[in-house]
Amino acid sequence: MKSVVLAHEVDWAGWRAAARALALSDAAPDDVVWSVRNVSDLFAEPEDEAIAAPPGGFTVPRALVTLAETVIQARDPERFALLYRLIWRAHRGEKHILEMTTDPEVQRAQRLAQAVRRDTHKMRAFVRFREVTEPEGTRYVSWFEPEHYIVEANAPFFARRFATMIWSILTPYRSAHWDGEALRFDVGASPSEVPDDDRLEAYWRAYYSSIFNPARLKVGAMRAEMPQKYWRNLPEAAAIPELIRTASGRVDSMVEQPVFSDPRPSRIVAPPAAEHGSPLHEAAREAADCRRCPLWEPATQVVFGEGSPNARVMMIGEQPGDQEDLAGRPFVGPAGQLLDRAMQEAGLDRQTVYVTNAVKHFKFVPRGKRRIHEKPGTGEINACRFWLDLERATIKPALTVMMGATAARAVLGRAVAITRERGQPMPLPDGKGGNTTGFITVHPSYLLRVPDEDAKAREYAAFVADLRRIVELAA
Ligand code: SF4
Repeated sequence: MKSVVLAHEVDWAGWRAAARALALSDAAPDDVVWSVRNVSDLFAEPEDEAIAAPPGGFTVPRALVTLAETVIQARDPERFALLYRLIWRAHRGEKHILEMTTDPEVQRAQRLAQAVRRDTHKMRAFVRFREVTEPEGTRYVSWFEPEHYIVEANAPFFARRFATMIWSILTPYRSAHWDGEALRFDVGASPSEVPDDDRLEAYWRAYYSSIFNPARLKVGAMRAEMPQKYWRNLPEAAAIPELIRTASGRVDSMVEQPVFSDPRPSRIVAPPAAEHGSPLHEAAREAADCRRCPLWEPATQVVFGEGSPNARVMMIGEQPGDQEDLAGRPFVGPAGQLLDRAMQEAGLDRQTVYVTNAVKHFKFVPRGKRRIHEKPGTGEINACRFWLDLERATIKPALTVMMGATAARAVLGRAVAITRERGQPMPLPDGKGGNTTGFITVHPSYLLRVPDEDAKAREYAAFVADLRRIVELAA
């Protein structure tokens, strides 16, 4: 029997070296016992002798290594043995082991990887920093309770995202500290170490209230996605009861509040989210793990399309913005609110359309504490077309509306001059009957950027006129 004691719960380097040496020695998985050194010895020098690898070639599929890197973060004491068993089998000739989708060990590893990815998504979406003033300066501190051992793998994401802040993320099993230049890990912490006196909390509440759209309120879904332990750590959660209580009044005031002159009051209706288990819901779940281009990495989360699966009209924008990236939903920021209002004026029922973006992750450049929108490049548009094509093939809309040059490029596969091609219906080779009509208009964010008020009102009216034409074409 061989014993391997790893330095800590996600000792990837230690596990990989030991697994390689064991496989080359042809050590059967049942003859290996894996354990982790006591947490109090976290920074002690290893006492165990490393398992020496005999000479010889060792190759396993890259995809298996990638899977193992994720699974090792799972909070499952059997994961080291499970991964070694898969590596050992691959080394002994089962090179296509991951294609054996009904194999119980492969299935178990995939389930663990999925759980880790879901936890990763939650950490990136729900970590909130609180501001602490110390003699040395300002520090931002967050408390988070992950399901799995994901802090080490995700700390670099927060270092990139909040590069100019000095921060600490405290969790029960591990703490990560960023001093503006380097990451440092320490043992876990207790919630009492997160300061109560909290100006950032007030900021988060105010910010959340400003992006809160009562017409899209789905408390049940929010709670299902956000277990109690995340919920209670979110400063904005405290604001939600009051926001819910005043929701109907806020809907009315949204309807009454003019964006430009001459608003025509009507109801704002939330677009339906894709049903659990539906093809679109499954696609959205898979897109959360997409790595087809680098945009996933600095973004908070994927922002998939939403709306009626039977929509006759699909409206395509460019990419999620800052608020969409945080909310995980398309068109919830200023451009989305403008689109909502213009659709109401045009008589285009949001309930009957599907709204999405050509690119599903937010591309930005950090500037101080702000994230400045950056236009996606052709490579990113082409990479993300996979998801757009999938949405189009599933929805099969009668009318595909391309809002802006990025959407037009994604659909038509070529550069488009919006002013020249705007407002001209064109045949597209898809849709319910085999054909659909394409229609190009401006992106609503363009209207927000027009500096002159008169010109802004003219452009808005032209946009509403385009939307009315869309209503006619889709009838
Ligand atoms: S932007 Fe699109 S292609 Fe790129 S990672 Fe995100 S979902 Fe994938």
